[in-house]
Amino acid sequence: MALADLVDIFFPPTCVGCARVLPGRAAFCATCAPEVERVPSIHCLRCCEPGVFKEDVCPRCHLRPPPFSRAFAPFAHAGPISRAVHQMKYEDHPELAAPLGELLAVEARGFLVQAPVEVVPVPLHPARLRERRYDQASLLAQSLARAAGLHVLTDVLVRERRTERQVGRTEAEREANVDGAFGASRDLTGARLLLVDDVFTTGATARAAAAALHASGAVEVQVLTLARAYSL
Ligand SMILES: [Zn+2]
Ligand SMILES: [Zn+2]
Repeated sequence: MALADLVDIFFPPTCVGCARVLPGRAAFCATCAPEVERVPSIHCLRCCEPGVFKEDVCPRCHLRPPPFSRAFAPFAHAGPISRAVHQMKYEDHPELAAPLGELLAVEARGFLVQAPVEVVPVPLHPARLRERRYDQASLLAQSLARAAGLHVLTDVLVRERRTERQVGRTEAEREANVDGAFGASRDLTGARLLLVDDVFTTGATARAAAAALHASGAVEVQVLTLARAYSL
């Protein structure tokens, strides 16, 4: 019996959406799989907001071009994906980061062809990391990097100011909440970086993080998240 089969007996694969034990290796069970919603292929080329837009750029990105060249997420922040993110982030299930990162590598392979290979996770503030005891974006980025052959730069991006949760805030409040919250710990002159986080909503966090990377010399920042909450 192969080691992988033994591992499956003692740690059987479970659905990332509902934790049900699965008969074989898959991300979702037969109930969750059809509920998984992918981001429509017609979306803003800068921020992945779904819709048909003039010159393929949404009004938000048109009005205020983001400091990242493009952002992508394979899944809508809904159904089993949203449940999995919530479990990973708030319900003490860091082990979900591994299968979700592998899933992200597979589902974003088209995007990754032209993405930077140096990965920077969006970090938690040290005080929040002490409370949660793990940083889900960092775990997700490490799993993605292993599966896709990328390289994670840890501790490059730091949260210099503690921010409140973005959930339930308006777009302007989100921007004010994260404005100036990030800084880079070292010189990034000439770097091309892939910023990785779990969910992209209005992009306020991604904008603040990308701005900090550019301020330290990065020449290009792209953004990849597992899920996209629609915000227009
Ligand atoms: Zn399920
Ligand atoms: Zn956009």
